[in-house]
Amino acid sequence: MRAAEIQDDLTQILVTEEQIKAKLEELAARVAADYEGKDLVLVGVLKGAIMVMADFARALPFHAPMDWMAVSSYGASTKSSGVVQIRKDLDTDLHGKHVLIVEDIIDSGLTLSWLLENFESRGAESIEVLALLRKPEAAKVEIDCKYVGFDIPVEFVVGYGLDYAERYRNLRDVAVLAPHVYS
Ligand code: 5GP
Ligand code: MG
Ligand code: MG
Repeated sequence: MRAAEIQDDLTQILVTEEQIKAKLEELAARVAADYEGKDLVLVGVLKGAIMVMADFARALPFHAPMDWMAVSSYGASTKSSGVVQIRKDLDTDLHGKHVLIVEDIIDSGLTLSWLLENFESRGAESIEVLALLRKPEAAKVEIDCKYVGFDIPVEFVVGYGLDYAERYRNLRDVAVLAPHVYS
């Protein structure tokens, strides 16, 4: 797919690469202060969080192990099903660890509320959430997310790790996907 064709699939850029970079540096400074001297583990939710994890982890001034979990809730649809399935579990034992879940986006909140409940049974010392994006008006359950990048309107977005049918993840900005692509 060529750049011009990709542009036709997008209606609007919501968050630019520069805005993301600045925001992740700001969040990393907060996390660094909050977790100084603590045993912090970053848990990324595949695949959407790969870019957030890569840039956020590199903005931290100390080592923090990364682990990954793959869950499915959407498939190739643009709506959350609320049914969460573990596709890949963690490699790390969370006992006594301070866990920061790194997410791309909180939409209905169903995936995260399920994950938080699941993690609570694993003996972590603390669990917090960092999400680059959040759609407050789409919330079906309240998620206590300590570190939020940007609140956005209820639109289906792609880019910076976020896909539609495995495409657009490599876009540098976050943009609204044109309805003609999926309807
Ligand atoms: P939730 O359970 O909060 O509704 O959303 C779960 C997952 O669905 C998110 O972590 C994300 O991977 C995906 N998702 C939610 N909203 C969007 C969106 O606007 N665009 C894309 N590409 N994925 C989304
Ligand atoms: Mg996600
Ligand atoms: Mg997806």
